[in-house]
Amino acid sequence: MMRCVSGMRPTGALHLGNYFGALQSFIALERQYESLFFIADIHALTTHYADKDSLVERSRNLLLDWLIAGLDPTQCTIFKQSDIVEHTELALYLGMITPLSWLERVPTYKEVREESDRDLSTYGFLGYPVLMTADILLYQATVVPVGEDQLAHLEIAREIIRRVNHTYRTSLPEPQAYKTEIPKLMGLDGRKMSKSYDNAIYLRDTPDILEKKVRSMTTDTKRVKRTDAGNPKECHLFPYHELFSSSAQCSEICEGCTKAQLGCVDCKKILYTSMLKFFQPIYERVDLWNKKDILDDILAEGAVKAKPLAESTMHIIRQAMGLNE
Ligand code: SF4
Repeated sequence: MMRCVSGMRPTGALHLGNYFGALQSFIALERQYESLFFIADIHALTTHYADKDSLVERSRNLLLDWLIAGLDPTQCTIFKQSDIVEHTELALYLGMITPLSWLERVPTYKEVREESDRDLSTYGFLGYPVLMTADILLYQATVVPVGEDQLAHLEIAREIIRRVNHTYRTSLPEPQAYKTEIPKLMGLDGRKMSKSYDNAIYLRDTPDILEKKVRSMTTDTKRVKRTDAGNPKECHLFPYHELFSSSAQCSEICEGCTKAQLGCVDCKKILYTSMLKFFQPIYERVDLWNKKDILDDILAEGAVKAKPLAESTMHIIRQAMGLNE
């Protein structure tokens, strides 16, 4: 059976960008493949190493977000990266054979380092793709969900695995990309949706907060007065309609907007109602999972299931590298 592996860093509450960018594909994949999803707490340290708040608590919060979004722990294996020590062991071994130039040419390495207000001139941050390769190879994944912007990361993982196979005459699988279509959802202010810009809609926003946020969204900035015709293509809000409202509603909104028959206030009311329908099952799952108090149990059970897979790969790797007889 094809095996899918992916993870997410516990760096804060999940927003709609995270949901449509990754989580939605996790939920689709858990029924198609044998799937392992891990909370990448060690990865969080590659950029947030100086943060003092508890990674354990942040990991629990991320798991809760996954569950309320609809990920089902009976359909997939969910665990925490640091609970399986083989991730770090394999990353160390892979680091021995990964050329420095491969890591330095990863497009996001330079970009993130320059844009970040954190000091990221560290060995750990440069080695991020090696740890990511270890995460994938440890479970011999054959499928990895990726957005367009992460294809370069997957390619370097494939190159490292090829180098392992070539150097040690192993036949470990090179994972294929499961490409995810990511809708372009801007934040409330029209910039990229991001926790750091404080412009995101979170999965756990209550109906009141959601309503306030929808009301505050920027629209077509050229439409100054209600009597001005608008242009949905220039409006940051319209892609939300395309995602949450029906196609009949989208057509009506387009017509009403371009003929100045529909005002932005009413358009936002329609969007809020459409979004509430999407959020309703999430609100129900919040109540359900909050009552259960079994987050730690889910992670512990997941680690028990993931561990033998990791040990089996490490046996192959240690033997191939001459560390075991
Ligand atoms: S009516 Fe709707 S689509 Fe048109 S500019 Fe206003 S918010 Fe955007």
